[in-house]
Amino acid sequence: MRIVLIGAPGSGKGTQAKKLVSRYGVPQISTGDLLRAAVAAETPLGLQAKAAMDAGQLVSDQIVLDMIEERMAEPDTEKGFILDGFPRNIPQAQALDAMLDKLGRPLKTAILIDVDFDLLIQRIAGRRTCCSCGQMYNIYTSPPKMDGLCDVCGGKLHHRADDNEDTITNRLRVYEAQTAPLINYYKAQGKRYIVDGTGTLDEIFQRLCNIIDGLPTHESLESARKAARFEQTIQEMVEKAEAKPTPDTQTTPVAKKETRIMTAKKRTATSKKAASKKSAAKKKIAKKTATKKKVANKKKTVKKKVAVKKAVAKKKKAAVKKSMKKKVATKKKTAKKKVAKKKVAKKKVATKKVSPKKKSAKKKAAGKTPAKKKAPVKKKGAKKKAAARKKR
Ligand code: AMP
Repeated sequence: MRIVLIGAPGSGKGTQAKKLVSRYGVPQISTGDLLRAAVAAETPLGLQAKAAMDAGQLVSDQIVLDMIEERMAEPDTEKGFILDGFPRNIPQAQALDAMLDKLGRPLKTAILIDVDFDLLIQRIAGRRTCCSCGQMYNIYTSPPKMDGLCDVCGGKLHHRADDNEDTITNRLRVYEAQTAPLINYYKAQGKRYIVDGTGTLDEIFQRLCNIIDGLPTHESLESARKAARFEQTIQEMVEKAEAKPTPDTQTTPVAKKETRIMTAKKRTATSKKAASKKSAAKKKIAKKTATKKKVANKKKTVKKKVAVKKAVAKKKKAAVKKSMKKKVATKKKTAKKKVAKKKVAKKKVATKKVSPKKKSAKKKAAGKTPAKKKAPVKKKGAKKKAAARKKR
């Protein structure tokens, strides 16, 4: 079991690594722990690393790689290891791959413990570690029974110097920029797994164990390799027999039987190949038709949208035309009314101006007889009356 645990500071890598150690019996190698020990012992390496650690920055790759190489040379790593906090960037990961290839012990898997940044800040700020046994606590989520004392050994609990808010933000930034790209690095190798890093410690631990227990074991890999080698040898034998038919193989009954068996085997092999080719072709066709359908659907929706837009535009145009027509019609009507009114007014003026004589003349011309008779009678009476008034 050769595992790398990836995760932001506070994701619980250290805590889970300790649980994995007791279950699988392989050592945990934490570069953070190794560096802190060097700082505490005031070794030249520790003194070199301290400034970067206090600032929440990464220590130089060379220092860390030297430390790891030294640790990997110890015999307890032969049965496996859990790397915690290493590698922290792509160059470290590449150096680790090269180192393990040389030792003939390549990495099996890299597991990311995934936790939201908000939760991480709370976790880091509340983190306390036992100075004696390394047991970890969180004063918010998993506090010790006695304040400041370890439940396991009674040792003093310690708040890490770099677990303050300023450094935390910096460490999270460094993680995003330098360590998070490892997720894709191991994905490309087909070794990456992701577990949800929220929930109880046991829940997260169970998720990790499910992945580790599901990994192919060394024995199963070896037997799979043997089976593949065996199949290849048979295939080669079949091909040889087909290519060079000797007189013996053609004549003796045993040889004939063998040849028949070989050809039958070859036929099944070729039919298997053909079947797999067919299914691959089918899959390709299915993919193509699916993408075609998607494109067609997209086109349809676009067409529909265009049609709807056109219809809306048409409606708008029609509405504008209607309103224009209405306006024109009402304008015409009002103009007509005005003209009619003017005419009426003119007529009135005309009737006022025309004298009674002219009027009668006009009426005579128009042939209106009843008016002719009445008007002179009225006028004659009036004249007589006026004459009488004068005499008086
Ligand atoms: P950790 O306990 O893993 O959070 O590490 C604490 C500090 O040690 C980090 O903030 C870094 O300064 C330093 N450190 C630990 N591991 C590495 C590493 N692989 N590469 C560079 N610096 C590291």
